[in-house]
Amino acid sequence: MSQAEAAHRMDPQDFERVLSSMCTEPHPAARQAAERFLATNPGDPETYRTVADLEREAVSLLGDLTGLADPAGYVASGGTEANLQAVRIARNRAATDDPNVVVPESAHFSFTKAADVMDVELRTVPTSDYRADLDAVDAAIDDDTVLVVGVAGTTEYGRVDPIPALADLAHDADALCHVDAAFGGFVLPFTDHEWHFGHAGVDTMTVDPHKMGQAAIPAGGLLARSDSLLDELAIDTPYLESTSQVTLTGTRSGAGVASAVAAMEQLWPDGYREQYRRSQRNAEWLAGQLRERDYDVVDPELPIVAADVSGTMVDVLRDRGWRLARTGEGEMRVVCMPHVTRSTLRSFVADLDWY
Ligand SMILES: *Cc1c(COP(=O)(O)O)cnc(C)c1O
Repeated sequence: MSQAEAAHRMDPQDFERVLSSMCTEPHPAARQAAERFLATNPGDPETYRTVADLEREAVSLLGDLTGLADPAGYVASGGTEANLQAVRIARNRAATDDPNVVVPESAHFSFTKAADVMDVELRTVPTSDYRADLDAVDAAIDDDTVLVVGVAGTTEYGRVDPIPALADLAHDADALCHVDAAFGGFVLPFTDHEWHFGHAGVDTMTVDPHKMGQAAIPAGGLLARSDSLLDELAIDTPYLESTSQVTLTGTRSGAGVASAVAAMEQLWPDGYREQYRRSQRNAEWLAGQLRERDYDVVDPELPIVAADVSGTMVDVLRDRGWRLARTGEGEMRVVCMPHVTRSTLRSFVADLDWY
């Protein structure tokens, strides 16, 4: 390997043509905070007290976003861990030996992992118009249902489930209601959707600073309406200064925690509002451009565009360096993250026309 090759190997790729990711370049303040806190471990909060204080601040800021005055919770490794832990809270709290969790088919695949790890039955129910179908959810719930999940900002189409109605169905069955706002949590505050703790009887929520929150990876968030819910996760920790732990992982990233606080302090609410508007306008612009070219486009309710661009065309665009994802249905999917600017999208459309 030449010296130049060796140096290049350690260059992370830039975001110039990345249209497939829900992560983005961290805000400069978040990057700096991450670097400063690289060698801290919030998993040992009595020893690493500064980062433990920051984590309480992160949870409180996440509560501001999600309509909860005094939230319980912690900064997780991501949405996957937060969803898994929500399933674990519900399972541990319930009395049944045969627990099931009801999720719409639009739910993120992390619930499949959660069900497998937690040994609970996952009942996946159909959607209508990309949202959880309430009749189907109702029909799937029984005495062994411990959790009903709603998605606030689906991964594929950015749709928001009818959260207040889902929470009512959950509570009628003495189950918990979990909202997965891993992606949506940092854009929905600037919309009219009803999705958070202040709008409905939501018990737990996933919201990821390392997606639209512009924090460094890893920074996910698990929030719970009360300490008693979070306590369902507590186990004893005899070798640490602190005596119990609710997280799934042990040693954790202080970089993620500090960067989440730095990003939210910089951006909540005005910076996030501006970013949401920019991203949403870009998504609508791209949707319009695609419609002009006779593609079927799923209306972008949040800044995610799905269109029936052929697999062949997606491959051509990938060869030209675009990083593009596809939905389960095979549509091309573009996530308008902060690094995706109008000029990025103009050159993307130019490449689409070039073919
Ligand atoms: C991205 C995403 C997740 C998973 O989050 P990770 O941080 O990748 O673990 C879960 N739910 C939704 C809705 C997501 O968009």
